[in-house]
Amino acid sequence: MEKLIPFINDLHDILSQAGLSSELNLPSIVVIGSQSVGKSSLLESIVGREFLPRGKGIVTRRPIEIQLHQVLDAEQGWFEFMDKKGEKIFESEDIRKLIEAETDKVAGKNKGISPVPIKVKYFSKDILDLQLIDLPGITKNPVGDQPQDIEQKVLDIVIPFIKNQNSLILAVSKASDDLATSDGLKLARSVDPNGLRTIGVITQLDLMDDGTDALNDLLNQTYPLQLGYVGVIMRGQKDIQKNKTITEQLKDEKSFFENHRLYKKYSEKMGINFLVKTLNMNFIQHIKKALPIIRETIISLVQIKEYDLKQYGDYDNLETKENKNLLVLTLISKFSNSYKDMLEGRCLDITSKELIGGSRIIYVFNETFRRTVQKMNPFDVLSDDEIRTAIKNANGIRPTLFVPEGAFELLVRQQISRLRMPSIECSHIVFEELRRVVNQISIPEIERFDTLANRISEVFENLLNKCLRQTEEIISSLIEIELGYINTSHPDFVSGMDMVHKDEQRQQQQVQQQKEKSPLQSENESNKFFNFWPFKNNKQTELYDSKLDNLNKKRKTNINSQKQQKLQQLEESQILQQQSVINKIVSVNQQYFMNDPKRQLPQVPNTIKITERPSKREQTEMDMIKDLLVSYFNLVKKNICDSVPKTVITFLVNQSRNFCERELIGVLYKQELVDELLQENQFIQKSRQETKQSLISLRTCLNLLNDLDSKF
Ligand code: GDP
Ligand code: MG
Repeated sequence: MEKLIPFINDLHDILSQAGLSSELNLPSIVVIGSQSVGKSSLLESIVGREFLPRGKGIVTRRPIEIQLHQVLDAEQGWFEFMDKKGEKIFESEDIRKLIEAETDKVAGKNKGISPVPIKVKYFSKDILDLQLIDLPGITKNPVGDQPQDIEQKVLDIVIPFIKNQNSLILAVSKASDDLATSDGLKLARSVDPNGLRTIGVITQLDLMDDGTDALNDLLNQTYPLQLGYVGVIMRGQKDIQKNKTITEQLKDEKSFFENHRLYKKYSEKMGINFLVKTLNMNFIQHIKKALPIIRETIISLVQIKEYDLKQYGDYDNLETKENKNLLVLTLISKFSNSYKDMLEGRCLDITSKELIGGSRIIYVFNETFRRTVQKMNPFDVLSDDEIRTAIKNANGIRPTLFVPEGAFELLVRQQISRLRMPSIECSHIVFEELRRVVNQISIPEIERFDTLANRISEVFENLLNKCLRQTEEIISSLIEIELGYINTSHPDFVSGMDMVHKDEQRQQQQVQQQKEKSPLQSENESNKFFNFWPFKNNKQTELYDSKLDNLNKKRKTNINSQKQQKLQQLEESQILQQQSVINKIVSVNQQYFMNDPKRQLPQVPNTIKITERPSKREQTEMDMIKDLLVSYFNLVKKNICDSVPKTVITFLVNQSRNFCERELIGVLYKQELVDELLQENQFIQKSRQETKQSLISLRTCLNLLNDLDSKF
């Protein structure tokens, strides 16, 4: 059983070296109380050596952890300080100076305090194994460099130590104090309300005024604790000045209790020696209770550290060039596979609460691109007046007999061009999405090599840019293709013929409505309509139909169309000749006419605009063009909504996915690059070493635990 304390001391050592003490909350005995109640004196008495800085005011300014190791064959006791393992310090004076220097180093010279513990070990045959912690005393009035909130600062240091459920609290109070107001007891109660792990210590019983005593306190009657109180008497300032030794003091303490009129009855349970035995016994019980939790914590820490180590990769074993080459190749292929997996929805993070990788790209197509294109309407950017002007301009000097085809083609091309920007933009958004995918790939084995990680990003960036350029070109070609041939014979397109029928129906509806309103007026209106519309009866409509058919045939038959073209060109050149003759006459006579007061015709304005209200014929033509425009634009939109995503997937997404590995290998897998690429991040190197060390320490602790189990 007594092996338990050395075992815990070993654990403390092993784990503090690996920086893991705080994660395990190992059992220890913590001494708390107000300033100058005798905490340091108590520790010295337990140890049996005067090694702690003592005096007036705040002397203990950093936590001091003291491990006591019983060495039965040791002739003389010795200390070991902090990391100077194995270096024996025999003189108390020397260890005190080291503690003072170490305190000044971290907490400053002028009464400052610090939570960083100082660690001391003491080896002797005259002690019982214990792990004790001396702490700064609770004080309310700041002195020296102490901040105004010194009390809070001290509490901030003390509370984490006593909060640890595995710590035993030694709450020290002076005999002359009222226990109800003792700082140590109050603080202990705040973390151990039922007093299960608090032992009360009452000091300075020798200094009580005549006629007063602390018997009720000592008998656990004033402020009851499960583990009770122990009264002690230590050396006063005068004793120290007179060089009274601790051994002498222990003898005097014994005789004080044995001879005291009230305390002698209980003298067996008084004094430092009794306290040490009580502490030892309670500490062992305490450790026994804590062991199962300690074991569980160590096992889970081992698992965490093993996982961490795997993430850092075992780079230390990569000595040969071949191994390094192989590693570069493996990492490249890991990265490429992650990229592919992210795009194809095979990434591990299926718990993600948002869309990732490939699913975001589909969102871009459906929700961003397709929606925007589908919403596009020719008349967002095209007014009726613009359509009328276009019709007039396309007709030139000859009003058409048929659907104004020139104007239709001009206007529909304008609309198709509007699709270029959103289509190109769609490829850019997907490009950004792919970059995002690359940035999201997190492979710890690669992240430890800064250069490799950066170069992989670079190669991806170049590859994506290359793919984007190609995609842009193909998208532009798609638009060019649509612009290059306006396929009015497309089965989904509402043909000119349909338009004429539709228009006839529209006209008839209007005539009918007019007739209903005023039969006479509507008759005139309809006559007016037939006046400008070339077909006055069914026969003429049939004629128009046949002309339209011819028009369609004309488009289909190359030879015919060439003949027609030649005829048309001849006609146009004749008109141009006539026009130039007229122009000459006009220019000769212009001066004369301009100033002639007798001129009868009004002057032609510089800018000629269409009339404010469209004529019936214009309206009809316009309605027809509008219907045709919508129909054809819808057709092209449908094509583009289908072909742009296909292009982006094929030339940007698939190309980058199919070629990334080849590209990475081509650029990065080179003999001369391998050392540079595998230059490891220093932080990762350090972390790996620390993790390895932690694992060794934790496994040693587990072995110690198993040994312990086999002994009991
Ligand atoms: P700490 O601030 O709680 O660590 O208190 P110290 O251990 O430094 O003690 C403060 C002063 O009280 C010192 O001068 C000690 O010698 C003195 N002292 C401590 N305990 C006793 C005691 O039981 N009797 C007497 N007479 N003096 C004591
Ligand atoms: Mg002290």
